[in-house]
Amino acid sequence: MSVYDVAVIGTGGVGSAALYHLAKSGASVIGIDQFAPPHDRGSSHGDTRVIRMAYFEHPDYVPLLRQAYQNWHTLEEVSGTQLYFPAGVLQIGPEQGEVIAGIRQSAAAHNLAIESFTENEIPQTFAGVIPPTNCVGILERDAGYLLVSDCISAYLTAAAKHGAILQANTVVESWQDRDGTFEVQTSGETLYVKQLVICGGAWASQLVHDLGVPLTILRKHLYWYENDFPAYTRAGKFPVFLMETPTGIFYGFPQLDSQGVKLARHDGGESIADAGHHSQQQDLDDQTLIEGFTSACLPQLSHRLTRHAACMYTMTPDQHFLVGTHPVHRGLHFASGLSGHGFKFASALGEILAELATTGQTTAPTEFLAPTRFS
Ligand SMILES: Cc1cc2nc3c(=O)[nH]c(=O)nc-3n(C[C@H](O)[C@H](O)[C@H](O)COP(=O)(O)OP(=O)(O)OC[C@H]3O[C@@H](n4cnc5c(N)ncnc54)[C@H](O)[C@@H]3O)c2cc1C
Repeated sequence: MSVYDVAVIGTGGVGSAALYHLAKSGASVIGIDQFAPPHDRGSSHGDTRVIRMAYFEHPDYVPLLRQAYQNWHTLEEVSGTQLYFPAGVLQIGPEQGEVIAGIRQSAAAHNLAIESFTENEIPQTFAGVIPPTNCVGILERDAGYLLVSDCISAYLTAAAKHGAILQANTVVESWQDRDGTFEVQTSGETLYVKQLVICGGAWASQLVHDLGVPLTILRKHLYWYENDFPAYTRAGKFPVFLMETPTGIFYGFPQLDSQGVKLARHDGGESIADAGHHSQQQDLDDQTLIEGFTSACLPQLSHRLTRHAACMYTMTPDQHFLVGTHPVHRGLHFASGLSGHGFKFASALGEILAELATTGQTTAPTEFLAPTRFS
């Protein structure tokens, strides 16, 4: 019979961070994953993730982002690896749109440094960028991108050094709350733990099914296009970009390697019944929208596709995360429904879940993410 203080179910983006913070706190902890993270079958693959502080989604995320930035820096020190790259993030959209108005609101509320550009100044400052009509730009110089798989590997390696047990390729089939002790049935054995941390990504609703919040899974696509325009490269100091346009919200990264420029559409996506139905199949309608966007806004980029990948967003009804302690099973803590913008927070969410599992509380301001907001 195996007994631990805590089991972390799902050791992808958030779970790997939780595992590290739990092991570092001295807890005996096991991390269980159905695959072998970092892998390309969930939500944390495709090389890069945007990280930015002047958060258009809601100003209440900013304190969590400060914690996240700090924790990514700590992970870089612990692992001796650069994980965060401050390329800057250029965001473009209508002044009263979701993106620009939201950035200004967060920046004003938290006194964050941003630089504004008029429609005419954008192409003069950023070669090869044509904004949609009546749009403005905001550059956040301290923002940039994270190397997603390297972050997960770094957390798992550091967790193991602190004594965490990693169990890959092991499915958690069920768990039962037996008067405060959790009995966890995996494909290999039965474990007993005092606390359970569930970071199941797109599988979350199969692992915690009684929160009363419906989660929708969307298949999303990533595209890499061959590029020979020097300005669109990291060496050419091209920033990460996100643009709110009449045909959708598109984002992408400067060219980092021979695969070219990576792009994706943040809105849209095909709803799938469950994460088991996820496939890597391409979607030509989505690709047509992407190429329409590049023709209009990044006209120097080729339409020669070098790589495609599909990934999953797990959406809540209001597109804000679900984070907290289960209202009935008080030893169960979770972060799910990250709604396509959660990776940058993984380093903070992991620490918060570890605090909840070891002390029963957290000082981080996460009340706005509690699932009770829907009741
Ligand atoms: C295309 C795309 C682009 C994105 N871009 C950004 C971005 O630029 N910036 C940003 O911040 N966020 C971005 N996101 C969102 C972000 O990547 C996700 O929110 C985040 O990676 C989710 O992490 P997670 O830990 O919840 O899920 P995952 O990393 O998928 O981890 C869940 C883990 O749980 C495991 N699991 C599930 N069920 C079981 C079970 N029964 N037994 C054992 N293991 C199980 C899975 O195998 C998996 O490893 C993007 C997402 C996608 C898809």
